[in-house]
Amino acid sequence: MKEAFKTSGSSPTDEGDSSPTEIKQMWPGGPLRQYSNQRPASNWIPYDGVGYVGSYVCNSCGKVTSGVYQTLEGWMCAEHRDNIQIQRLSGKNSHRRAAA
Ligand SMILES: [Zn+2]
Repeated sequence: MKEAFKTSGSSPTDEGDSSPTEIKQMWPGGPLRQYSNQRPASNWIPYDGVGYVGSYVCNSCGKVTSGVYQTLEGWMCAEHRDNIQIQRLSGKNSHRRAAA
């Protein structure tokens, strides 16, 4: 599984600054990322000469995350990537453990 580039400094510092942000797909089939025409925080980086991009967004839960991972189902946060791998493993093995 390939690891996507992670944003450094994963502590968001939204100090009451309410610049409008949207979610943008970086390229067809690519990961989702926060996007804004104005720079909401210093850790956002210039993008395409017209705007700024912030943290990545999970394809599955839509939550902002410090890094996303490419899966067959899309770009997902570590939690959902792990869920998919667990599902796949348990799918191959038809035995199910009874819940206690
Ligand atoms: Zn997720």
